[in-house]
Amino acid sequence: MIIILFGAPGVGKGTQAKLLQERKSFRHLSTGDLLRSAIKNNTDLGRLAKSFMDKGELVTDDVVIGLVREVISHSPNESFILDGFPRTHAQAVALDVMLAEIGTGISNVINLMVPDEEIIHRLSQRRVCVTCGATYNLLANAPKKEGICDACGSEVVQRDDDSVETIRKRLALYLDKTAPLLNYYRITGKLAELDAVGDIEAINSELVQLLVKVG
Ligand code: AMP
Repeated sequence: MIIILFGAPGVGKGTQAKLLQERKSFRHLSTGDLLRSAIKNNTDLGRLAKSFMDKGELVTDDVVIGLVREVISHSPNESFILDGFPRTHAQAVALDVMLAEIGTGISNVINLMVPDEEIIHRLSQRRVCVTCGATYNLLANAPKKEGICDACGSEVVQRDDDSVETIRKRLALYLDKTAPLLNYYRITGKLAELDAVGDIEAINSELVQLLVKVG
């Protein structure tokens, strides 16, 4: 079973995917996290990806598709929540092909909707733990001790691509390359839309209801 959490950067895909992973038997698969881990490990792929990510650009389709194929093909019976993938038409087609190869398919695509100004506000306040990836918001959910992760005690920093200028670029790229995929999924009848402004827990309950309804 494959669920796609769809939406612009900053709508809360990662936060909701982590909650679903904790509470349901899904595995959270974030291409952004996979790429950041490659950067942290200073691999060739990580160095290549960083040059795109720091500018707010998309990493090339072949790299990202390869990463997802590697994970999914090794766990064909697992249920995944995809966060940040697919982001282009080529990625959506490649996903359909790799899922058909392992005899599974997409059960739900949930589009999380948040206005752009709210996204810019959220992302510019976002901080992440350098070690465990826990996410904070300085206004809504700040770490208890400034700059220190509640979960693991490591440093909490702003992502390089969360500057206002880069956020605007990422939003423009989302409109141009990723939002058109909504039509690709709408015609499959698997797309549902969710207003993702407000309380994280309330949004999660609605999300679970949608999965029950459609899935
Ligand atoms: P995210 O954590 O999903 O916001 O992703 C952070 C950055 O990683 C993006 O701005 C892109 O540079 C890169 N990235 C993540 N997922 C993809 C993808 N599916 N296709 C291309 N680039 C991606």
